[in-house]
Amino acid sequence: MLVVMHSHATPPQIEQVLAAIRRMNLTPHPLPGAQRTAIGITGNISVVDPRSLEVLPGVLELIRVTKPYKLASREMHEADTYVRLPQTTIGPGTFTLIAGPCSVENEDMILRTAEFLRSQGVHLLRAGAFKPRSSPYAFQGLGQEGLDILGRVRQRTGIGIVTELMDSETADAVEQVADIIQIGTRNMQNFSLLRRVGRSKKPVLLKRGMAATLEEWLMAAEYVMAGGNYNVVLCERGVRTFSDHSRNTLDLSVIPPVKHLSHLPILVDPSHGTGKRDYVPAMALAALAAGADGLLIEIHPEPERALSDGAQSLNFESFICLMEALRRLAEPLGKTIP
Ligand code: PEP
Ligand code: MN
Repeated sequence: MLVVMHSHATPPQIEQVLAAIRRMNLTPHPLPGAQRTAIGITGNISVVDPRSLEVLPGVLELIRVTKPYKLASREMHEADTYVRLPQTTIGPGTFTLIAGPCSVENEDMILRTAEFLRSQGVHLLRAGAFKPRSSPYAFQGLGQEGLDILGRVRQRTGIGIVTELMDSETADAVEQVADIIQIGTRNMQNFSLLRRVGRSKKPVLLKRGMAATLEEWLMAAEYVMAGGNYNVVLCERGVRTFSDHSRNTLDLSVIPPVKHLSHLPILVDPSHGTGKRDYVPAMALAALAAGADGLLIEIHPEPERALSDGAQSLNFESFICLMEALRRLAEPLGKTIP
């Protein structure tokens, strides 16, 4: 349910509506717009008597939101969401690049990567300290030591950090160094973790579950937003299909419906989407053409020596070539790459 206030509604009138919603044991979400304020209502709205809200002073109309996801839907929030970070802003109009190794391996490689990215005008570095590996015997990440490295490199270079959170126990520690908290494909429906990041002040990069429908994905975003964290960035990283020529099937066809149904920005991860570095540039360019708001790309100073996902990681030289190609394509599409 969405309560649309008159453009001339006063702050006390808005407050009165918020209080009435709270008295129904529901949660009001004020959504200030350029023209007028709207108030989204979440909770079990079957108990709402619309007439009791409609008659309050300053209320223009009540709109029923038909989708099961509410705060994530365009029905409730028409304008595109821009996620503002200290280093850059993610949202339509710009094309945000997030790049870095799969895992934090040591301080030197993170520092080298951060300095390289800064020299290319890239503001956000990705790297996992806690790694969700298919095998318990594979490199699991450096854990807290990896976070400490990311924190020091952030401080030294000013680069923003995107790093994965795997469980609630490490949430406080990850929150301290991350500019964006990544929720990986395997945790897209870990509802207690989603609730935890819903209470965070840090934006969330929500990867699509490897077998998730668009509705399930947006419902996962809804979990985060229902907790009051509206800064969610979606990330398509490929889904499971019968195809085995690539690691996953990168579903670029999800971008237009995401844009239609939701106001949230969407990035594409062509590295996990393909699993092979040779296929990454084509899918990165295709993501830009298809309307994505940016990319999450794995790069490594020495991909052949990477402790995880080396086969899909670009080296610095190939990343420069890709950046040039992206810049050439962005211009006719009316997007800027900062
Ligand atoms: C990653 O980004 O390194 C990662 C583990 O991604 P995903 O959750 O998409 O597999
Ligand atoms: Mn990886």
